[in-house]
Amino acid sequence: LIEQAQAQIEAERVSAEAAIEAAAEAQALELEALGDEYLSARAADLRDVAAQVRRALTGEQSLGERLAAPAVVVARDLGPSDLMSVPRERLLGFALAAGGLTAHSSILARGLGIPAVVGLGEGLLAAASDGVTMALDGAAGTLTIDPPADELARLREAARGQAEREAALRAEAALPAVTRDGRAIALVANASTPEEARAAREWGAAGVGLLRTELLFLERPTLPDEEEQLALYRAVAAELPGAPITVRTLDVGGDKHLPAFPLPKEENPFLGWRGIRIGLSEPERILLPQLRALLRAGAEAPIRIMLPMISTPAELERARALLARAAAELEAAGTPHAERVELGVMIEVPAAALNAQALARSADFFSIGTNDLTQYTMACDRGNSRVAELYQPLDPAVLRLIRMACEAAHAHGRHAAVCGELGGDPRATPLLIGLGVDELSCAPASLPHVRAAIRATDSAAAAALAEAALAASGPDEVQKLLAQWHAAQGS
Ligand code: PEP
Ligand code: MG
Repeated sequence: LIEQAQAQIEAERVSAEAAIEAAAEAQALELEALGDEYLSARAADLRDVAAQVRRALTGEQSLGERLAAPAVVVARDLGPSDLMSVPRERLLGFALAAGGLTAHSSILARGLGIPAVVGLGEGLLAAASDGVTMALDGAAGTLTIDPPADELARLREAARGQAEREAALRAEAALPAVTRDGRAIALVANASTPEEARAAREWGAAGVGLLRTELLFLERPTLPDEEEQLALYRAVAAELPGAPITVRTLDVGGDKHLPAFPLPKEENPFLGWRGIRIGLSEPERILLPQLRALLRAGAEAPIRIMLPMISTPAELERARALLARAAAELEAAGTPHAERVELGVMIEVPAAALNAQALARSADFFSIGTNDLTQYTMACDRGNSRVAELYQPLDPAVLRLIRMACEAAHAHGRHAAVCGELGGDPRATPLLIGLGVDELSCAPASLPHVRAAIRATDSAAAAALAEAALAASGPDEVQKLLAQWHAAQGS
């Protein structure tokens, strides 16, 4: 951006703010033209950077400075810096004409629990004006301008109830995540950014259980170097001082693509070159720089390294050898780094669960990725709505693999976590505890709900619930068992 802006200033004598906005716009349009939902959403991030520079140059007020009273914000699009500039209590919610569910603003809204509706179309901007009353229902994804009194009353009542529940849960953020009979569960957060790590701390997370590093790689035309990666790991660790930060090495392939590292077209990308398979076959470009950055961050914070898409113990051994090589390279260069960093694996391929005993001999921990484990166990694309009925993380087949992984971990003195979406579903919490899970990792906004579910659980009853679920005929029966459990708890 800087190079393009400087060139334009020199060639055309335009103002700095015009030049940076033109440079960002050109790159944003390129991203949008790629036809990829995730990358198109990054265009908003680029425009956001340009807007920040413009504000710095012109002294223009940020959104937070302009918003004097609590309000719903209506805009074409919002960048993450717009959102972060508004004190949380002044942002009642936001509605966007543009934006998608994978846009940074949506990810932040989900993580921070801000009601939001996006992708409403340009008509929104004509229909909304300052001072008008709006009813925004983030759960239903609806926005009503000038709503009838009864709808407003209904939503106000629902919001009040939710705020009361949230306040009660917030008050519990400092309570320990222990079961009624005193079994401690490590309650940690999934986070991709320092902002999410901050939200995780506010909700009482004991650390980060899954730092997805793809965001740093996806947003850019070139691969981030070791220093840039180190800066991200440091920034996340700084939000949760002294707490374990589990960083997953790059997990691309499948449906995730990198402009800086184009992947060949494959017949079956989810069964192809993805996750650790890419890291191991491209150590110089992908895995080694990341391992060096993680070892350096590990000198300052309790970093744990987690490998995605592991199928066999041999893959873990190859990664361990690369970790030793990364350490030797840092040593030779006299760069400070951790002597030892825990190296764990994700259990998201059925083979890894079935080989869990062998894996647990050398892995320092397991983290079960129920999103992919469900997809691969049920042979059912997690993003394909035609087969969505089969995609059931509560299928006893998936539960059996979770149990196998936990048993193998414990047999070797390791801990077993769940970091897939199921880990953030409070209905499933007693079941996962009963299956033997030691750590639950979820989106920051889900932390209070999972904490409450842990605290309502009795381990022996949870073990009986898990037995019943494993013997169930299918996911519907498991759902019923969970519904009965929560009805009995009054939760
Ligand atoms: C999973 O597969 O459950 C997981 C946590 O990884 P991702 O959703 O990033 O594939
Ligand atoms: Mg996965």
